[in-house]
Amino acid sequence: MDNIDNFIGNQHLAPVSKNYLDNICPATGQVYGSIPNSDEADLELAIVAAKRAQKSWAQMPSEQRSDILIKIAQLIEQNLEELAQAESLDNGKPISLARSVDIPRAASNFKFFAAAASQFASQAHHMPNNAINYTLRQPVGIVGCISPWNLPLYLFTWKIAPALAAGNCVIAKPSEVTPKTASMLGKICQQAGLPEGVLAILHGEGKTIGNLICQHRDIKAISFTGGTQTGAYIATQLAPQFKKLSLELGGKNPAIVLNDCDMELTLNEIFRASFANQGQICLCASRIYVQREIYQDFKRALVEKAKALMPADPANEQTAMGAIVSKPHLNKVLGFIERAKQSGATILTGGEQVKLAGRLADGYYLQPTIIEGLANEHECNQQEIFGPVVTLTPFDSIDEAITLANDSDYGLAATVWTKNLANAHDIAEQLQTGIVWVNCWLHRDLRTPFGGMKQSGLGREGGEEAMRFFTEAKNVCIKYT
Ligand code: NDP
Repeated sequence: MDNIDNFIGNQHLAPVSKNYLDNICPATGQVYGSIPNSDEADLELAIVAAKRAQKSWAQMPSEQRSDILIKIAQLIEQNLEELAQAESLDNGKPISLARSVDIPRAASNFKFFAAAASQFASQAHHMPNNAINYTLRQPVGIVGCISPWNLPLYLFTWKIAPALAAGNCVIAKPSEVTPKTASMLGKICQQAGLPEGVLAILHGEGKTIGNLICQHRDIKAISFTGGTQTGAYIATQLAPQFKKLSLELGGKNPAIVLNDCDMELTLNEIFRASFANQGQICLCASRIYVQREIYQDFKRALVEKAKALMPADPANEQTAMGAIVSKPHLNKVLGFIERAKQSGATILTGGEQVKLAGRLADGYYLQPTIIEGLANEHECNQQEIFGPVVTLTPFDSIDEAITLANDSDYGLAATVWTKNLANAHDIAEQLQTGIVWVNCWLHRDLRTPFGGMKQSGLGREGGEEAMRFFTEAKNVCIKYT
């Protein structure tokens, strides 16, 4: 059994209550460890430790803070294989993906914000009548970072790294569904020389410890990534405290495929955008709109590719599709497929749970699924399914495609596939999403603003946006004669 503990004051501590939750492996459906079911008492320990560390961490020269973050990045790289194995076991994602994407990106997050710590500059504004303003950017204080299960270490570090770089102490909570690599990060931070109390990692349920972190008066900002419903609840809870809040929420991302696209590139990338990480990435394409002239050819080729993608043991090097993260989530995704069938949709491929043999017999596996024939208002085109399920819909004109794409409460990301860059610019301008990729997907530059419009979030992460979120701006105006 793999039992993990909280990380507070650079020590791995059992929860004060001694209450633990089961940790289940999605590939086998079996309990393989336990995690603390943290509560107020654990949070208080973390707050006391953070308060002790706060001043010296905030005042540490940024170059020294940067050196510690670089060391964390190096240690993540040195432990890449162990972290990747843990991520795959905990989440069900293919080991190849954890190795090539999740863990390297966690290291990049620390490297990137180590540089940001030393490069972050304040602004100055001269006034005509002998006055000058300059903006102090001071750490917010103690901040809370809460992340989801789909890209566990990747998203956890995407929040923690800028918060630390800006000089804050952090109390972080990973998803209870995927706690393992977050726990390993604690040890790495300790080895890298992160001072005691600067980072606490508390495990447990969102509704208890997550909620307590959000509500705590000594925690001055919350950076949250997760579902829209949870984000809405947190926003209502925090509004009376006027706490800084960054929300990265769900998506229902449209892909617009025009007649003149590069067919091979588009198919390969849309296939990846649809089914990578079992479709459990907030940026995955989920509504694919294809221009009528190429619709049948595109459909045939995409279905053929999906049929060849069979879920298999995530630990196997060759596996491209692993397990769905949990049984409740598998059932939720299957529910969408079932209701699509009842609505008269055509399941072009997939739609069924997969039973693997031997020790994987109770794991949570689902065929990649492509659905055709649903109206845009159907829940499968409106609600986030967050699994390996996409819908295909033909369109005639570009205007129609834009209307269909924007007909959503969400506004996270979109992709456009065309060789005509004038059309691409025009469509990108009209799409109501925080991110538009043209002829590519998930091509990330960490300096760019990242986040969604509408119900996909509040604020932006990435680059200077993150450094601004994790600092308070104070204008100092000096009049001189
Ligand atoms: P949830 O909203 O269920 O949970 C996210 C995190 O919040 C978890 O750590 C969870 O803990 C915690 N949490 C749950 N309830 C509360 C609460 N009341 N107060 C404080 N914290 C709470 O999302 P999922 O983990 O299911 O993640 C999937 C969702 O995340 C999808 O909607 C996806 O689109 C979105 N997402 C958005 C991204 C973006 O950048 N926009 C990126 C990746 C995912 P616990 O696990 O214990 O319940």
